[in-house]
Amino acid sequence: MLADDQAAGFAILLIDLDRFKAINDTMGYASGDALLVAVAKRLRRAVRGADVLARLGGDEFAILLAPPASPETVSAVAGRIVDLLSRPFLLDGRLASVGGSVGITLSAPESDVPGVLLLRQASLAIQHAKQAGRGRFVFFDRAMQDAADERRQLETDLRAALHLGQFEMFYQPQVQLAGDRLTGFEALIRWRHPVRGMVAPDRFIAIAEELRLIGAIGDWVLMTACMEAAGWPNTYSVAINVSAQQFESNTLVESVGRALSASGLAGRRLELEVTETALLRDDLSTMAQLAAVKAMGVQVSLDDFGTGYSSLTQLRAFSFDRVKIDRSFVDDEAVVRAISALCNNLGMLTTVEGIETTQQMNRLRGDGCTDIQGYLLSRPVPANQVIGLIETLDRAVRVPTTLCPAC
Ligand code: C2E
Ligand code: MG
Ligand code: MG
Repeated sequence: MLADDQAAGFAILLIDLDRFKAINDTMGYASGDALLVAVAKRLRRAVRGADVLARLGGDEFAILLAPPASPETVSAVAGRIVDLLSRPFLLDGRLASVGGSVGITLSAPESDVPGVLLLRQASLAIQHAKQAGRGRFVFFDRAMQDAADERRQLETDLRAALHLGQFEMFYQPQVQLAGDRLTGFEALIRWRHPVRGMVAPDRFIAIAEELRLIGAIGDWVLMTACMEAAGWPNTYSVAINVSAQQFESNTLVESVGRALSASGLAGRRLELEVTETALLRDDLSTMAQLAAVKAMGVQVSLDDFGTGYSSLTQLRAFSFDRVKIDRSFVDDEAVVRAISALCNNLGMLTTVEGIETTQQMNRLRGDGCTDIQGYLLSRPVPANQVIGLIETLDRAVRVPTTLCPAC
């Protein structure tokens, strides 16, 4: 411990209050100010004379712990801070529970890491503390920096990807159980990254939303999928995923109209998949936009049902043509049966996603759902393989054992 202390440099602790905004909003700014003063007093109790305590702005405080600041010493101080901030504050005669998160970085005695970088490290650590549930302290480590760098690189690359033509659409077949009929395909975006290879949408759609790039990407998806689907036999439809944010700019209806007229695809062959979060926005504009695309003959389905809020209000909020039951329920017969029965009564089709085995498919036949989608039929394939897949599936769908030999 002594040897450790001798080798220890200083430490920077960043402290962020967990519920400052809520106090400001509900109790007023005067109470917010009083809280900051009270917090500063408590923080002062946690440090020694040689340490520096500062308020960086807003509800963010910093402490520079003078050497020797060994991990053990710093943990003890940080733990005390978390504890002190977790106790209620008396503001204006009322008790307020606030709490705080702490991000820590250590500096070795002879280290030449610049101060701004140390602050950035502590700030990364605090983000991790908040993600881990707040009210705790976290030490910076190298992996956090690597993840942050990687994320920044991905953002830079994503900003250029559309312009560089790096996106492609893949298509996954959808089959109607009654009559074993191939009805169409879901269009799923892929990002062909020059270094990372093929990147799946789960890795980049959320980032594209954060960077507000999803509008432009969504328009590209609509146009590309409609153009490609227009080249298929005209009995097959294409389903496109629409992100919640695409409703915000109020241009979705226009984009759909443009894609349909440029491609010549009939409205009835296009289906838009929206998730429950898109509907949670609970504004009339989302419903009005959905109604307007429906008026063009476009089908509308509710995607990933069961993973979000799944309230019955949502099922009633709009007359969906189809509900897609999330693949996490594929083996949950009771859930599939109940949702299918409900949807049948409401006049909606039901697709179960994520069918991987013949047993699952056969069981679902008795569960009341109308359609299926999953690796059993095929994984999503590039556009140039769709026609081949139509020929194979149209023959094979009646002989389930010959489906998707690769699966
Ligand atoms: P989703 O709309 O629920 O799409 C179904 C996802 O399940 C696809 O993943 C598909 O490849 C995968 N899947 C299909 N069958 C099986 C199966 O049998 N087993 C398993 N384990 N998985 C199966 P993918 O292509 O990675 O897409 C993930 C999500 O990304 C999509 O979920 C959708 O929410 C989003 N997404 C994809 N393309 C777009 C797009 O063009 N625009 C927007 N906004 N979101 C998209
Ligand atoms: Mg979907
Ligand atoms: Mg889904």
